[in-house]
Amino acid sequence: MERYIYMDNAATTPVKKEVLEEMLPFFTEKYGNPSSVYKLGSANRVEVEKAREKVALALGADKSEIYFTAGGSESDNWAIKGAAYKYRDKGNHIITTKIEHHAVLNTCKYLEKQGFEVTYLDVDEDGIVKLDDLKRAIRDNTILISVMFANNEIGTIQPIKEIGEIAKEHNILFHTDAVQAIGSIKIDVNELNIDLLSLSAHKFFGPKGVGALYIRKGVRIDNLISGGGQERNKRAGTENVAGIVGLGKAIELAYENFEEKNKYIISLRDRLIEKIEKNIKYVRLNGHRTQRLPGNVNVSFEFIEGESLLLMLDLNNIAASSGSACTSGSLDPSHVLLAIGLSHEIAHGSLRLSLSELNTEEEVDYVVEKLVEIVDRLRQMSPLYEKIKEEK
Ligand SMILES: *Cc1c(COP(=O)(O)O)cnc(C)c1O
Repeated sequence: MERYIYMDNAATTPVKKEVLEEMLPFFTEKYGNPSSVYKLGSANRVEVEKAREKVALALGADKSEIYFTAGGSESDNWAIKGAAYKYRDKGNHIITTKIEHHAVLNTCKYLEKQGFEVTYLDVDEDGIVKLDDLKRAIRDNTILISVMFANNEIGTIQPIKEIGEIAKEHNILFHTDAVQAIGSIKIDVNELNIDLLSLSAHKFFGPKGVGALYIRKGVRIDNLISGGGQERNKRAGTENVAGIVGLGKAIELAYENFEEKNKYIISLRDRLIEKIEKNIKYVRLNGHRTQRLPGNVNVSFEFIEGESLLLMLDLNNIAASSGSACTSGSLDPSHVLLAIGLSHEIAHGSLRLSLSELNTEEEVDYVVEKLVEIVDRLRQMSPLYEKIKEEK
């Protein structure tokens, strides 16, 4: 196959071979329904429980606190709607941020239509939630705080421990969308005072369409999916056994050789940032320089359309993103980039390159080489850029 460089790991990742191998038998010979009494089924129940154990271990949780879902979006919907409806009598106020994934933002917007009130916190220019703002936003009727662990566009990592402490002090439930953080950050739900946590397998070399919600023991939320008694009566539907087994294996692998892997990805990230800043003018790094995901690079090039940049990169077999997959295809600039204070023009010239352990230094160098060429070519077509050059 032709050379292909994949730098869109925040959108999704391939399923690792070891993960696929563990999954395969459950599509064919081990097809039993985990709820059945006969061996073909009940043996699968054991496999689902083993996977639950692995997810719990990765989070410092108990296996009884892990519930399998169909991915990050479902987990976010369940956590937020489930908490909102359960505690409706106690209060109708929810606090979240302006930079959440649409799975959280649109769930909150939906709840606003149902009579809930939502405060969307601002972030600073690096994309970090201001703790004083959070404290000030808390009211007597606040029932839930939902703040993402790490941002999918700009990679900024939030002060989750401090937020967890604030939530606990005020006796408010704390949910975090940790979809981008799993496999990149070590997480202990008890140390961080997290009550609800969403994760999704396809962001860390597991299959698409499967995820989990951590629900702290003692925390009660309403069900999202009604039906049979699966997942201890909390999430109906015949278990996605192959997917769940794949999730278990993927999360186990994600935390193997963790420090070494992270060090490598950070070195690639920093090399990429350094080379872009050194070789291309009129560029800014978005997100916090150090409090950021190991694999995330997000930059804005002035005088350029991000969409044209993506198309030209694609012609060179380089896969990247201009924001989150959900926003591409629409002409509105990313809500995250606007929230950190970028103008519409600058936000439009943004590029996200998200790295994984599968990328190499050589790929980083090649991408920078191509970027220099492409950015230069696109700028030649920009009247604004010509004007700036003349003025110099
Ligand atoms: C990808 C992503 C989601 C959605 O997860 P799916 O499994 O694709 O539904 C939610 N939140 C964040 C931060 C993500 O990156």
